[in-house]
Amino acid sequence: MGRLAWVAIGILASVLVWQQLGFAWGLVAALAVVVAYLSTQLAQLSRWAQRPLKRPEQDSIWRRDALRIGQSLRSARARARRFASVLRQMRRTADSIPDGLVVVRGAGEIEYFNQSARRMLGLLQSDRGKNLFALIRDPDVQALLAGGGEALVEIDSPVTAGARIEMRRVKLQEERDIVIARDVTELNRLLTLRRDFVANISHELRTPLTVILGYLESLTEEKLGKAQRQAAIAKLERPARRMQALAEDLLTLTNLESSPYPDDSKVTGVVVDGVLQAVVEEARNLSGGKHDISLESDATLAVEGVFEEIYSAFHNLVSNAVRYSPNGGHIRVRWMRRAEGAVFEVSDEGVGIAAEHLSRLTERFYRVDFKSARVRGGTGLGLAIVKHVLRRHGSVLQVESTPGEGSRFWFLLPHIEAVKSCSEASEAR
Ligand code: ADP
Repeated sequence: MGRLAWVAIGILASVLVWQQLGFAWGLVAALAVVVAYLSTQLAQLSRWAQRPLKRPEQDSIWRRDALRIGQSLRSARARARRFASVLRQMRRTADSIPDGLVVVRGAGEIEYFNQSARRMLGLLQSDRGKNLFALIRDPDVQALLAGGGEALVEIDSPVTAGARIEMRRVKLQEERDIVIARDVTELNRLLTLRRDFVANISHELRTPLTVILGYLESLTEEKLGKAQRQAAIAKLERPARRMQALAEDLLTLTNLESSPYPDDSKVTGVVVDGVLQAVVEEARNLSGGKHDISLESDATLAVEGVFEEIYSAFHNLVSNAVRYSPNGGHIRVRWMRRAEGAVFEVSDEGVGIAAEHLSRLTERFYRVDFKSARVRGGTGLGLAIVKHVLRRHGSVLQVESTPGEGSRFWFLLPHIEAVKSCSEASEAR
């Protein structure tokens, strides 16, 4: 109904009632029509306010003001929704950061923290409003919160035994700081590894260098006879070879570590029987006839891999068996077909290895007995090389050993048939 219709109804109703019941009742009737009109207008306005933004259906007395109020209400609601969505997005972003973030106020009152901080520092939702120092009882954290400006400390993880957490405080606003927590356990481990590695290399090089320098000094003595001079020169060979072997093994290891897989262009079908014949020959030379070395090898079994790497793995294991076995010991080298694949095995009757050392044998420069390993020769890198070669060829080194009785090193490799592999390899080339 339009406004004019309402006016007509109002006049008609008030005149009729006035004539029938008197002036006062006529006035009441007019007021009743006005109230009814206003109620329909209000109902229309509230219906419109619930719906998407569009002009009121009919021209109304509230029209202009209602439109303005409605629009500002709607844009305020849209702004609040946008703000809430941005906030949610920021929270999600902060939660996906691997570093822990804690926003603290004043002396350390926790205002906000992300998921990583919760995990790293063991914080709970209920910890908001509590003091960070009271929760992580570490004097370094107190110093961090007390000091002015940017600060950095490293503490034991309050959650994981043995883990280390680095905490950095950065000024956010006048009253607020942000504390950034980072798990530095792995970084510390790598730094220690690097430090140990450098220290080990220096140590390994110092011994042969000292020997070489000693003999070089003696060679400068004028009174030295020809025979003595030649003997001193001959003595230089052993430490020089030791240094050469160390340099070669280090280079091999670096190359192996540079990629988890061998370069495709270097992969061929390797007939292991041929490799083992050569490796055992070398082992017999190293032994000088002091050990009984036997070889059982299935000549039909080949593997796909890098020839030099496979040779080096077999060579290291067989030469270790010789070096760690007393004279007269029997060393058995086997390459055989099994249901699961081809198995290489070298067993000896040597010094053996105590159980607590077994898991660390393939670490670089790890030796069960430093003094005896030096005397027996070797660079301390042999088993590390074997581990990496096997990893690149999809295998893992296994060791069983009993101190004083001997050791068995073995691994499994996926194999191919030797004859096929050779012809395919030569066709490919
Ligand atoms: P190294 O050059 O010192 O022999 P490796 O990496 O080849 O270095 O071996 C690491 C350590 O493992 C050796 O120092 C030795 O203590 C132990 N080991 C390796 N092979 C044998 C074996 N067949 N018998 C006893 N101990 C062994």
